[in-house]
Amino acid sequence: MPPTRGIQAIAAAMLGGSPLDLGESEAGGGGGSSSGISYLHRNVAGFVNSERLTDSTVFLFWAPKTNIVQSMTSIQARAGAHSYSVLIGSGLLATIGERIGEKLRPPKQCAIISDTHVAPRFAEEVEKSLSAAGFQPMLVEVSAGEQFKTLEQAGSICERMLHSGLDRQSFVVGLGGGVIGDLSGFVAAIFERGVPHVQVPTTLLAMVDSSIGGKTGVNTTAGKNLLGAVHQPTLVIDDIDTLKTLPRRVLRQGFAEIIKHAVIADAKMFQDLKNETGSAAVSLQTLIQRNVEIKSNIVAKDEFDRTGGRAVLNFGHTIGHGIERASNYEILHGEAVSLGMIAACMISIQKAGLPQGTLAALADLLQRFGLPIRLPERFSHQRILDALKFDKKFENGEIRFVVTPKIGSAQLSRDVTMDDIREALQAL
Ligand code: NAD
Ligand code: ZN
Repeated sequence: MPPTRGIQAIAAAMLGGSPLDLGESEAGGGGGSSSGISYLHRNVAGFVNSERLTDSTVFLFWAPKTNIVQSMTSIQARAGAHSYSVLIGSGLLATIGERIGEKLRPPKQCAIISDTHVAPRFAEEVEKSLSAAGFQPMLVEVSAGEQFKTLEQAGSICERMLHSGLDRQSFVVGLGGGVIGDLSGFVAAIFERGVPHVQVPTTLLAMVDSSIGGKTGVNTTAGKNLLGAVHQPTLVIDDIDTLKTLPRRVLRQGFAEIIKHAVIADAKMFQDLKNETGSAAVSLQTLIQRNVEIKSNIVAKDEFDRTGGRAVLNFGHTIGHGIERASNYEILHGEAVSLGMIAACMISIQKAGLPQGTLAALADLLQRFGLPIRLPERFSHQRILDALKFDKKFENGEIRFVVTPKIGSAQLSRDVTMDDIREALQAL
């Protein structure tokens, strides 16, 4: 396995080897029943401390087998009138039943929606924990892949749930990456006109991005995510042990969204990522926490994407989605967003006064995380331009384009034309 660099190396170290390894987790407590503190007290001999921060509680505890101080973070994410906990830590899958039991009382039937890559690895542990807590889970396994995030798939899952006797008292657990998060969330939004949704993201992208904010949906032949609903989760559980089995290319997709968050909202995180500093034991968890906070703070200001506040999250995505679509999804979302961010920076230099040097700094950072900064040779620009018109970010033919005047801030511009985009593509 080639050595990884920086935070990726930290991620690899923390995850017990390379992200491609399938090693078993040794850390983390099991069992426990009520609040984080008593859970940790009861199950782990060396409970160290807990610290209440503004919106989150960090529980530090001692994992006896590894002699590493571990922590579980609980963040309160807000969206309009809703508020939900996001738990981040190690070994959380084994306690999922109790965690959900704190929010939804058994006996309740539930559907665990997962895919063919994730279910064989993690569904049994989740089912066991839910059953032990008094719930009645049924597993619905769907084929892995973006092409299966469809209305037909959502309908067929609902039919299976109805045939198995699930009703309006039931709830849905989405166990998987962003595809499963979006699909299971959409099912939860429409099943019996809406049942609770528990997000259990198993990719870095899903932890830092798609599981937060309540956007759910499916793709159509006309484009991605064109049908959907805003349906906030009841609880989000990020078990970072699940990232151990993530292929490296998939892990990178998450870093594209993390770098996007840094560009639009957190100059310090941008610098930290550049410096590649940080303590190995806490970095990945802290990084996920910081990104959950960034996304949920932005969503809290504009839950339904109406005032433009939430739109800044689309930085790099207008052109990114065009590239993704034009490549027939062979270029993955995060890779396309990486290219889209480079193009958006070029446009920001023209339209928002972004200093030239920032483009080089961003390109350097993206490359360090193995993300592309140039289009493949002979990639058709026209296909990208054609694909753009399917994007939801076009309103009445006008482009809602997100620009950045400096790292750490972003704004919507109505000043960007198709010619600007064409020009940026030529330089990409
Ligand atoms: P994904 O869900 O397709 O997962 C990528 C691949 O990794 C899949 O093959 C999956 O089966 C596999 N996988 C997942 N977890 C694994 C694990 N722990 N070990 C091994 N393999 C694992 O893709 P993604 O990048 O997580 O999510 C992309 C999706 O998220 C897109 O559909 C996108 O539209 C959506 N998204 C939604 C939002 C939102 O706000 N709702 C935001 C961003 C992205
Ligand atoms: Zn994205």
